[in-house]
This record gives sequence, structure tokens and C-alpha cells, in this order.
Amino acid sequence: MSKALVIDVARCSGCYNCQLACKDEHVGNDWTPYAKPQPQIGQFWIKVHENVCGTIPKVRIHYIPKLCNHCRKAPCLEACEHNAIYRRDDGFIIINPEKCTGCKACQEACEYDAIFYNEELKIAQKCTGCAHLLDHGYELPRCVEACPTDAMKYGEEEDLKDWIEGATVMIPETGCHPRVYYRNIPGKFIAGTVYDPIEKEVIIGAKCILNSGGKVWQVNTDEYGDFWFEDLPVGLFDLVISAPGFEYKGFYNLKTSKDLNLGDIPLERAK
Ligand code: SF4
Ligand code: SF4
Ligand code: SF4
Repeated sequence: MSKALVIDVARCSGCYNCQLACKDEHVGNDWTPYAKPQPQIGQFWIKVHENVCGTIPKVRIHYIPKLCNHCRKAPCLEACEHNAIYRRDDGFIIINPEKCTGCKACQEACEYDAIFYNEELKIAQKCTGCAHLLDHGYELPRCVEACPTDAMKYGEEEDLKDWIEGATVMIPETGCHPRVYYRNIPGKFIAGTVYDPIEKEVIIGAKCILNSGGKVWQVNTDEYGDFWFEDLPVGLFDLVISAPGFEYKGFYNLKTSKDLNLGDIPLERAK
């Protein structure tokens, strides 16, 4: 029995239902021995992160819910000298609130900032995978059940293999091997608007050719003169824009460490 959670970023609408459902399940409710009550403020065992990419008017927004990754190699568990953290048979990592001394070693060890400190109870707390529900006949954690777009899938890892294939995990270089997978995290984009400065009109159908290390992408500007290259890897790119009757325009060594809006791009008339 090995459970996993897969989050499809393309399906997440940013409604925050998962975040609210977790609060509803855990704030003020004592689920000992799984968890003591989560405080009203200061803790988000699942938090929806809003990512605004690009600059106005070329902006894309996506949402990424983040929670404890229930790591296969869990530094929090290794750091706890009081045997307060354990791994269940289904893979979930639990902080036993009755054994936790509040020493914070786990919080310092976690690479994902997934552990919170409860000042009132003097213990560390985090997502429990809603194990208190799963052990009592419920099929899904509250956050998964609350998602209206089916962006979160929970189940046997084997049953989720189609969803996991091609998915990624947060900060894989930690070597923690998370059980929480993410699909469809958007890559970077390069966008702009091509126009004729004499006629003061956008140029429709301008050819935009992007090149990086011999790999080539091509799009034409749409009816608004806009072009978008989406889902690009991080790297260096050369872009050449051309249209009949105009001089070509080149942009070289564009860095996609962030999304790029090249703004309004005038093409001069061919001489
Ligand atoms: S994400 Fe952090 S708290 Fe969760 S299992 Fe991994 S190391 Fe532990
Ligand atoms: S699995 Fe349960 S505890 Fe974990 S984030 Fe979802 S609702 Fe919160
Ligand atoms: S409930 Fe679903 S759609 Fe809403 S923020 Fe969470 S994952 Fe996204």
C-alpha cells in the first residue's frame, strides 16, 4: 500500500477550496493521535500559491497548491530525536502530537517549509494526509474531496500511474522523493505585439522564429498582432520577426529565467 497525491496545475482554478477545507477540518478540531487542533491563524497545511507571470498586458496566472510532500526520504523524520515523527504503511508522514517536544529540529530540516510551530501548544504541526479520516472509512483527504475541478487526485500510486507519468515533484534536487506530484506546471513564455509604426496598425501574420541550441519554434502573429511562445524551458533564445514589405527584426540572447513580454515591436518598412 503506497499512496500518492497528484495535482494537475492546468486544472487548478485557484478557488482556494482545498485551503479552506483543510482549515475547516483541522482548526479547532482535536484529531489526536494524528494531530492536535490547527490554530486559527499562522498555519496553512495546504496553501494555494498564485503565480503571476509576465507584465501587463501579456500576463498569465497559474495556481499551485503546496503541502507536505510526505517524502520517501524525509529529513524531518531523520531529524527528530524524540521518535515523534513516523511513516505510516501508506507512506504518510505524521508528527505524533503527544510525543513532540517542540524542539523544532524537524522544522529546520524540512526542505519545503511544510512544518509550522504551534506557539500555544508548543508543538510542530503539518498536513497529516487526513489520516484520521482515511482510517475511519473516508476515501479522500478533505482538500482532495473539496476540489471542484478534480485538480487533485489521491490514491494508490499504482492506480495513479497515468497521472504520475510525465509529472514532476517540487525541488527534485533535494533528493527527498516526494509523494506529491505536479502535472502541467507551465514553462516560460516569450510574447510581444508587432506593428507598423507608419500606419499605426498591428501586423497580422508576421513570421516569428525562435531558436535555442538548434531547436526551432515558429508562430505567426494573430489578428491583434500578438505572438506567444509558450511552455519554453529556461535558457537562451534568439528571435527573428519578419513580414513581407518590412525589414526583419532580431532579438538575441533572450533569457527565459522569467517570462518575457517584449512589448510593442515596430517593424520598419523595407527600403
Ligand atoms: S515535506 Fe517536509 S515535513 Fe513533509 S515529509 Fe518532507 S521533510 Fe517532512
Ligand atoms: S490532506 Fe488533510 S491535512 Fe493535508 S492538506 Fe489536505 S486537508 Fe489538510
Ligand atoms: S480546490 Fe482544486 S481548483 Fe481550487 S485551488 Fe485547490 S486544487 Fe485548485
